[in-house]
Amino acid sequence: MKKRIGIIGGGTAGLQLAYSLKNDFDVTLHHYEEAEELRRGRIQSTQVHFRPALDREQRFQMPAADAAPPIKTIHFTLGQQKLFVGRLTGAASSVDQRMAYAAALEDLAQQGVRLHKARVSRSEIPALSEAYELLIDATGKTGPLVDFPVEAELTPFHSPQRKCIVGYFKGVAPVEPEGVSITVLPGTGEMFEIPALTERGPVTILFIEAVPEGILDVFKGVRTAQEFTEKMKSVVQRYFPEIDGRVDPDRFSFADEAAYLQTAITPVIRRPYLVQSGKLVLGCGDSVFLADPITGQGCNTASYCAEQLFETLIAHKDSPWDEMVGIDYWNRTRPYITAVTEWTNAMTGPLPDHVAQVLMQAAADQQTADRVAHWFENPPKAYEVFFKS
Ligand SMILES: Cc1cc2nc3c(=O)[nH]c(=O)nc-3n(C[C@H](O)[C@H](O)[C@H](O)COP(=O)(O)OP(=O)(O)OC[C@H]3O[C@@H](n4cnc5c(N)ncnc54)[C@H](O)[C@@H]3O)c2cc1C
Repeated sequence: MKKRIGIIGGGTAGLQLAYSLKNDFDVTLHHYEEAEELRRGRIQSTQVHFRPALDREQRFQMPAADAAPPIKTIHFTLGQQKLFVGRLTGAASSVDQRMAYAAALEDLAQQGVRLHKARVSRSEIPALSEAYELLIDATGKTGPLVDFPVEAELTPFHSPQRKCIVGYFKGVAPVEPEGVSITVLPGTGEMFEIPALTERGPVTILFIEAVPEGILDVFKGVRTAQEFTEKMKSVVQRYFPEIDGRVDPDRFSFADEAAYLQTAITPVIRRPYLVQSGKLVLGCGDSVFLADPITGQGCNTASYCAEQLFETLIAHKDSPWDEMVGIDYWNRTRPYITAVTEWTNAMTGPLPDHVAQVLMQAAADQQTADRVAHWFENPPKAYEVFFKS
């Protein structure tokens, strides 16, 4: 008989886990919303999946959105000075999570994976733990439902370092060559401009990372889609003239009424395993590895760890699932989590001089510019530059 696995959460981590594990194990996915509710719901992310994450989705035969605008480059601007355009090794893409999660849920159901719709509560964890050989908490940033211990060394902040302000818009001409554009206003925050695909077609995401109480932190009290659009327009006009030059004022509008978001993340890293009443519970994705989105790594980290968890469970397929499995999973993921976490946390502070020098060099040298773009595909490379050079 196949071992039974319960996954809580149908997001990036939970869905990839369900796809990867469904052939070798008896998988049940506990998810909170139906596909149609997801489609009608509020955006939660900007979700750039870099090439390695897309390759994993292909490996596990997850649905692909081929119509998504390809993201081939990273444009980098410091203040008002465009420094460079770095080329990625392979095209990345951003597919609205509302659309991607809904499609994957429907596809899993068609493939016979057991789906259980309910918001799982903490009080249900002991019973669910008993029902499966393994329970995986993939509840994202609202989780975890289990008290995985905090890794203090990787958790330096106790409050958000940025306010995240996101809208999906029509009426912004894309950058050339096609890619993500990052504008850093030192001490103030960042603007990320991302081409993405939604159910209603291509959009441009404008994503402000505002230093709390700084000059970009001006969306407090903004409630309606109309107010949000007006505020975004005025911030772009005032602080991001290059983007403003590509805005068509007559067409600038939300992709849909639920295409905006304000949130703030306090980064926290937890040890992703716990044994409770003799049963192993594992965590995957934001529930255990939660970071500020400034480096656009959350989905990519969730995908990386979901693959490592798959490899761990396959390696231990025929042995008991006890604490050793949790230790093995953490040993496999810890170097990557350390690298991505420390790089991401460093990006929320002033850039170290030697990193600023690399960025200036990238302005004069295409190979360096490309290497900086590769940081986003391979965070341990960024970690090396930040902390080991
Ligand atoms: C503003 C912003 C921009 C971002 N941009 C990027 C980016 O460009 N690139 C990138 O890689 N990452 C980005 N991220 C991070 C990324 O969105 C997350 O890291 C990623 O979605 C994490 O996947 P997950 O599966 O852990 O969580 P989620 O994708 O959040 O999925 C968790 C799921 O669990 C469900 N759930 C929660 N509680 C329960 C419960 N009790 N019972 C049942 N179900 C439950 C939720 O409904 C949800 O479907 C961004 C985040 C933010 C906030």
